[in-house]
Amino acid sequence: MSVGTVDQVAELDRLYVMNTYNRQPLVLDRGEGVYVWDTDGKRYMDWVAGIAVDVLGHSHPAWVQAVREQAGKLAHTSNHYVTRPMAELARELVEITGMDKVFYCNTGAEANEAAIKIARKWGRGKRGDECYRIITFDKSFHGRTFGGMSATAQEKYQKPFLPMVPGFLHLPFDDIEAVRAALDGTVCAVMLETIQGEGGVRPASKEFLHELRQVCDDREVLLVLDEVQCGMGRTGKWMAYEHSGVVPDIVPLAKALGGGFPIGACLARGEAATTIQPGEHGSTYAGGPLATSAALAVIRTIREEGLIENASVIGEFMQSELRAMCSEFPALDHVRGIGLMIGVELKQPIAREIVKKALPKCLLLNATSETVLRIVPPLIIDRKQALEGLAILRNVLAES
Ligand SMILES: *Cc1c(COP(=O)(O)O)cnc(C)c1O
Repeated sequence: MSVGTVDQVAELDRLYVMNTYNRQPLVLDRGEGVYVWDTDGKRYMDWVAGIAVDVLGHSHPAWVQAVREQAGKLAHTSNHYVTRPMAELARELVEITGMDKVFYCNTGAEANEAAIKIARKWGRGKRGDECYRIITFDKSFHGRTFGGMSATAQEKYQKPFLPMVPGFLHLPFDDIEAVRAALDGTVCAVMLETIQGEGGVRPASKEFLHELRQVCDDREVLLVLDEVQCGMGRTGKWMAYEHSGVVPDIVPLAKALGGGFPIGACLARGEAATTIQPGEHGSTYAGGPLATSAALAVIRTIREEGLIENASVIGEFMQSELRAMCSEFPALDHVRGIGLMIGVELKQPIAREIVKKALPKCLLLNATSETVLRIVPPLIIDRKQALEGLAILRNVLAES
């Protein structure tokens, strides 16, 4: 049976795949640059980019070549052995994050699991068995494993799966006094996204980050900045925390790291970089030659094509255009974000409706809630393509 039409594929999905996602009515077939095509040959501007993953766009020749070559050479070995791409990527990641060492994994949730395990073991060594609590913040998102989900301070993710892993303390975002009051010697780490992603593209203020760094230093607590979504160039710096000048102790990474090939990493510095000993943590696939070759191609291409600079320039351009649209369209309230990590807050709960209406007009968009549109295009997007997408969005808003 040949399966190609939206209806045929959607039927197989409905019958055989667990119903865990709200799908858009579309079957994607191929991609090139900032565009994807459906099975009918219709072209879409992709401002979702696999949820901030496809930083090089789709089918970038350098990425394709790296994956092809490595797949034909050596794809998987297990961590009983080392390979050159794994070792080279480690050096690159240490250099771009300012950390000392990397632990490899496969997803963002796992990168946060590693951060949680490092923090707990470090805390136990520092202040004994009672020092295992981790502070996280409202509207955060740290993944869907039990550790990540317990860290995630949003009831909707946790409720069906209670009880959570103990030891997570949820506090208001950007509230340093709440953090100060909670630090009683049983806390080993403070963990937050430098820019909250799933929570609606909300950057932590520079003051909050500086105050956190200070208070973590004073009270001997680790600072974990989850850069799974905002890291790897999207904000116009390799790491979003560079905008603040604050250096964390632990940095979970994933999404953009492999440019579409699954890979995660947890970087750490100082004592946190040497806390975990052989046998205490690991993953079969982690740091495999195929995934690490893809990530090396991502880093090389970001450098060669000046994509960090582009994220900054085009990001600013898109944000200023969107700000102008806020006075033009009453549905729009304001624009948040840094570089090409953009959130548009709406005055009415119509974000999902806008996403739906943009689809037949050939723009892929995402909503993090009923009131926030998220715009995270590939970092290769140029001004002309930005204008093309904005024109479609204008068109949709004019009809809303
Ligand atoms: C997406 C995301 C995660 C989870 O990543 P997965 O690869 O889906 O496990 C964790 N933290 C943040 C900030 C994210 O955006």
